[in-house]
Amino acid sequence: MFSNCVGRLGLLSRPHRHIQRKCGLHGRPNFTKNNYKAIRGNFGYLEEQHIQFFQKLLGYDRILTDLSDLEQYNVDRYCQVRGCSQIVLKPKTTEEVSQILSFCNENRLAICLQGGNTDVVGASVPVFDEIVVSTELMNEIIDLDENSGVIICQAGCVLENIDKKLEGSGLMVPLDLGAKGSCHIGGNVATNAGGLRLLRYGNLHGNVLGLEVVKANGEVIDCLSTLKKDNTGFHLKHLFIGSEGTLGFITKVSLQCPPRARSINVAFLGLQNFDKVLKTFRKAKEDLCEILSAFEVIDSTSMEFAKETVGITSPIGDYPYYLLIETSGSNPEHDADKLYKFLDLVLVKHLALNGTLATEPAKVNAIWAIREKIPEGFKHSSVLCYDFSLPLSKYFDLVEDMRNHMGSLAKKVFGFGHLGDGNLHLQIEVNEMSKEVRDHVEPNVFERVKQMNGSISAEHGMGFLKANYLSFANPPSKVEMMRNLKSMLDPKGILNPYKVFPWTYS
Ligand SMILES: Cc1cc2nc3c(=O)[nH]c(=O)nc-3n(C[C@H](O)[C@H](O)[C@H](O)COP(=O)(O)OP(=O)(O)OC[C@H]3O[C@@H](n4cnc5c(N)ncnc54)[C@H](O)[C@@H]3O)c2cc1C
Repeated sequence: MFSNCVGRLGLLSRPHRHIQRKCGLHGRPNFTKNNYKAIRGNFGYLEEQHIQFFQKLLGYDRILTDLSDLEQYNVDRYCQVRGCSQIVLKPKTTEEVSQILSFCNENRLAICLQGGNTDVVGASVPVFDEIVVSTELMNEIIDLDENSGVIICQAGCVLENIDKKLEGSGLMVPLDLGAKGSCHIGGNVATNAGGLRLLRYGNLHGNVLGLEVVKANGEVIDCLSTLKKDNTGFHLKHLFIGSEGTLGFITKVSLQCPPRARSINVAFLGLQNFDKVLKTFRKAKEDLCEILSAFEVIDSTSMEFAKETVGITSPIGDYPYYLLIETSGSNPEHDADKLYKFLDLVLVKHLALNGTLATEPAKVNAIWAIREKIPEGFKHSSVLCYDFSLPLSKYFDLVEDMRNHMGSLAKKVFGFGHLGDGNLHLQIEVNEMSKEVRDHVEPNVFERVKQMNGSISAEHGMGFLKANYLSFANPPSKVEMMRNLKSMLDPKGILNPYKVFPWTYS
């Protein structure tokens, strides 16, 4: 099976020994290039002399060429895609990244940039034999200014580790997501990750103050400002936020960090219908106002799925819809009082049928675990995952539509997500993942989203899996400008090919 994938290097064609990525129910996916019949771009092949260059630059211990070591870099978190890179490089400094990129550019070697490899649209692993350049050893926190609340760190710092570092200073990272223990800040910026508290802290275009980026030709671009206001020309950092590794290699990030909340409270409610969900959302914005920090919705089928796959159950019994509402602020008494009053009101007005409140950290975490563990179930089943922005009035219509459209082809169709931002995670559980099933869903589901004036990617990006819908999702003038920017910054197209921009297939 592996002969499909090895390149021209005899020394790398050793038999496969063990697999590190655990792929659950259906084992490792087929190679992406075969599954999707993608055609390889006109790039060079890895040769012995290239490896010698990398060895001289990084030493032997920061290069992986053993196929068993490479597996976890070739397969994504949910085992949807699988590349066949023959080498992983682990630079520690910007200078090393610059030399790697400059060398690859000269030799027309394609590169896949990788952070924590938690991406869910096939952006973080190679499609063919791209060289994987991982940020996992670029994990230094460079500076923290406690007065301004600005932290500067290397791109490979794990999100949760940055947050721990900030704890002692009474600060926190403005971004939080289920993958926080594995994802890197560089990957977060490259995907413009949204997450659980976007409602409160806004997105990374606002929170990232500056970036250091290496261009495809190795040139280092210093936009690493720590200033909140700096109108000295174009704000180039925004080009790289959400560019999914196609425009440049982010090496350092300067991030604005808000004060850490002293009191965090969470309510978990059961509701009868979606109309009441929307009314409760409006009331929460009015009454909880400045302390409202997350507003998440889960439907009953999501809860059933979580019960079957990861053993999570609702602490308040079964309801058609559940809401997780978080408040965070600086005054425990005031905040808890506000949330109690709000809960009283939604129960008295029959907006919610039942609810529970957590004010102690252990209970708060237990309630958050209900929401955060739903995606864990994807490892135990075959699930097509979608991430849409939708007008709130139509938020759950799509779930019902797709349930009808799929009929017996789907085991379950369910939805949960960041309702506070209009972001729905639509999931379709199927017996077996196949091209036929995907073709039945796509582009149908995207067309429905477009008709509803939504976006086919709220926060996960286009990656490999949605790249061929770039023109579907954007007007021609916008796509042309994206292409022009790509050819200006990466004329040979070596950075993350087959991602964001449509790829060709046979
Ligand atoms: C359980 C779970 C929950 C999640 N929840 C959310 C959520 O709430 N919100 C959300 O937005 N996403 C979510 N995600 C998706 C994912 O975690 C995010 O996209 C995350 O930001 C990816 O970070 P990473 O370090 O893992 O990047 P990777 O997966 O390694 O890479 C992602 C993309 O960024 C590029 N990249 C990585 N590092 C760099 C760099 N230094 N320079 C340039 N490009 C780079 C890669 O080439 C790739 O295109 C979730 C994923 C999981 C598994």
